[in-house]
Amino acid sequence: MSSLQHFEALAGSLKLPGEAVIDGTLRASISGKTFPNVGPRDGRILNRVAECEEADVDVAVKAARRAFDEGHWRNLHYRDKKRVLFRLADIMEREAENLALLESLDVGKPITNALKGDVPGAIKCLRYYAEALDKVYGEVAPFTPDRFSFVEHDPLGVIGTIVPWNFPLLMAMWKVAPALAMGNSVVLKPAEQSPLTALKLGELALEAGLPPGVLNVVPGFGAGAGKALALHMDVDMIAFTGSGPVGKLLMQYSGQSNLKRVSLELGGKSPHIIFADCPDLGRAAHEAAWGIFYNSGQVCTAGSRLLVADSIADEFLEKLHAVAQRIKAGDPLEPATRSGAMASEAQMKTALKYIETGKREGSTLTLGGNRTRADTGGFYVEPTIFDAVPPTATLAREEVFGPVLAITHFSEPDEAIRIANDTNYGLAAGLWTRDITLAHRTARAIKAGLVWINGWDSCDITMPFGGFKQSGFGRDRSLHALEKYADLKSVSITL
Ligand code: NAD
Repeated sequence: MSSLQHFEALAGSLKLPGEAVIDGTLRASISGKTFPNVGPRDGRILNRVAECEEADVDVAVKAARRAFDEGHWRNLHYRDKKRVLFRLADIMEREAENLALLESLDVGKPITNALKGDVPGAIKCLRYYAEALDKVYGEVAPFTPDRFSFVEHDPLGVIGTIVPWNFPLLMAMWKVAPALAMGNSVVLKPAEQSPLTALKLGELALEAGLPPGVLNVVPGFGAGAGKALALHMDVDMIAFTGSGPVGKLLMQYSGQSNLKRVSLELGGKSPHIIFADCPDLGRAAHEAAWGIFYNSGQVCTAGSRLLVADSIADEFLEKLHAVAQRIKAGDPLEPATRSGAMASEAQMKTALKYIETGKREGSTLTLGGNRTRADTGGFYVEPTIFDAVPPTATLAREEVFGPVLAITHFSEPDEAIRIANDTNYGLAAGLWTRDITLAHRTARAIKAGLVWINGWDSCDITMPFGGFKQSGFGRDRSLHALEKYADLKSVSITL
C-alpha cells in the first residue's frame, strides 16, 4: 500500500477539475462566477469551481433534451450502449487512484476507504447497469383474436440528478448509471461541498464516447443550480439523495413547474438492535461500531441508535468501546487512517452541537465528544458514544450525520421493536439474534426499507436501496432502479 508521501505528491500534481461539463465541453459558468471548494483535511481552498446558475442549467437541460431527441444515445443499439458504459468503467478503473484521491481531498474521507469502497463501488454499479440494459424486457398483454397488445419501457427523457457530499461519486453513479442504461439524458448537480469526482466523471464519460449532451455536470449551490434544475419545465424527473427538508422543497418545485417525477433518498435514524441471544457479541460490537463510525457517521444508513438488551449490556458495551477506541483516526491521506475529517466545517459544527445537546439533556457521555486535530485547520470529530439515551431525547430522534452513537437499553423484544419504530424515518435497521422466529418477526415488524439480520449493511448493488416513511421513496440499486427512469407505454394493435 502506498504511503502518505505518495498521496501528498500525487495531490500536488493532480489537476483538480473546476469547469462544468455541458454539451460535450468543459466550460466556465455563463456569469464567470466561481466558488471556493474547501478541503476538510486542512480547511484550505482546494480550487475554485464554476458556479452554475439558472442560465447554465437551462443550457445544460437544452443540450440534454436535444441529445435525447436526436436519439444518438437513446436509439443506439444496446450492444453499442453497453460498449460505451463498459469503456467508461474501464477508464474509471484506470483513473481509480486519481478518483479516490479527489474524493478524499474533497470530503476528508480516508483514502483507503475511497480506494476500497467508493471508487470500486461506483465502477461495480456502472458495470451492473451496463450488463443489465439489454435484459429489460417489456410484456405482451393477454391475447385476444382481434388485438395484439404490448407494454414497453419508454425512457423519461431528461433526468435531473441532485446528490449529497457523503459519497459523492457513488451516490451520483447509483442514479446516473441506471438513468443512462434506460436511454435517458442526465444533468447532474453535485453538492457544492464535493464537486470534484462528478466533474471528473463528466470528462471521463466524454472520453468513453458518450455523445455530447447525454451527461452534463453543473456544479453550484442548492439554491442556485439545484433549484433551477428542479423548477425547470423541461426536466422530466429529479432523482435526489439528500436531506428531508430539501426533499420536501423538491416536491413543491415539481408542483410549481411541470409535475416532474421526483424520487427521494433521504435521511435516517436507523436502529441497531442487539437482542439478549445475540449469536456473537464480538462481531456485533465490531459491526455496531463501524455501523456508526464509518465515514465519520456521515452515512444515511448509519446505525445511530443502538438498542441493547439489559441482560447483555455490560459485556456488549465493553466490547463496543474497545472497538471504537481502536479506530485509527488521522490524516485522510495516510493509508492507515480509518477515521478522517468530516466533510465540511458546517457538518463538524452540527455534530459538536448535537454532542452538547446530548450532555445538556443528561445522557451519559462514555467516549469522545471533542473536536480533534484542530491545529491542522481540518474538521475532525472523535468517535463519540452516549449511553442511557432516553428514546425521547434529541440524540435518539434527530439525524446527527456525524460520529455520534446513542445507546438505549431495553428489557423485552417488543419494547425494542416499539422503540425502533418510534421515529419519522425508515431507512435501515439491524438486529442480532439466534432465534429465527424473533428474527423474522422483528424484520416484518420494523418499518424500514432495509433490514439486516446478524450483520450490518450486508446488502449490495443487487438489492434495492431506499426508505419508508420520511426516509423517502423510490429505490436505487438493483433492477428495480431501472424502472423509475422509464414510463410504461401500452401499445395495442387492432388486427
Ligand atoms: P442537502 O439536502 O442539504 O443537499 C443535498 C443536495 O441538494 C446538494 O446537492 C444541495 O446543493 C442540493 N440542494 C440544497 N438545497 C436545494 C434546493 N433548494 N433545491 C435543489 N437542490 C438543493 O443534504 P446534505 O446536507 O448535502 O446531505 C446530508 C443529508 O443527505 C442527510 O440528511 C442524509 O441522511 C441524506 N442522505 C441520504 C442518503 C440516502 O440514500 N437515503 C444518502 C446520503 C445522504
